[in-house]
Amino acid sequence: MPLPYPEKLDKVLWIPSPSGGFSLAQTLKHMNQHLPSPPWTHLVWFKNSIPKHSFTLWVAIQQKLPTLNRRCTSHINATICTLCNSHLESHDHLFFQCIFTKPLWSFLQTRCGFHIFPNSWQSLINWASHHWRNCKGFYSNSVAKLALSSLVYSIWMERNRRIFRKRSLSQNALLHQILDTVRLELMSASLTDSPSSRRIIEEWELPASVIRPPTKPPDTI
Ligand SMILES: [Zn+2]
Repeated sequence: MPLPYPEKLDKVLWIPSPSGGFSLAQTLKHMNQHLPSPPWTHLVWFKNSIPKHSFTLWVAIQQKLPTLNRRCTSHINATICTLCNSHLESHDHLFFQCIFTKPLWSFLQTRCGFHIFPNSWQSLINWASHHWRNCKGFYSNSVAKLALSSLVYSIWMERNRRIFRKRSLSQNALLHQILDTVRLELMSASLTDSPSSRRIIEEWELPASVIRPPTKPPDTI
């Protein structure tokens, strides 16, 4: 079969890129446009989120953390949760059912002003994905997301501390670590004056200076 343009040389084109040249950014953009965001994306990535907390939560939501029920290496041949020493360690157990985790989660619920009664880690994420999306309670929802990601990160770090460093923090010390993390993050945020933000600074014992003063209207002549 004769070639249509025998006088022209072949040229390599990278179709996802408008210029035809290879670009990693264009390739990622092309791949992502075909993937709908999961409903829990806003729980993980939000304004004032802490990257290392978000990453741990992102993996935990997909139940991909190397919990002991998922791996069994020559170094780790146990499968029992190191926080309670009585149940198989899984995502559902570690972040939802464990007697070590439950009081922390319960305290944070009260502090954040909501009470939920899911029956599994997955149903908790489903509930939060639906209820914390609401922009109306923007500050409250952001604080709850900060608390959730901080709790998951701290639980995972505590679990690793016990397995790999043979050291441990008490439940109370871990709770204060979580509270301090959320408090520090809120102090770096700039809240506009509203009943919701005033309630937050009261509940989290923050200085009133966290609330941004209202913008002054320009002087009229
Ligand atoms: Zn446990």
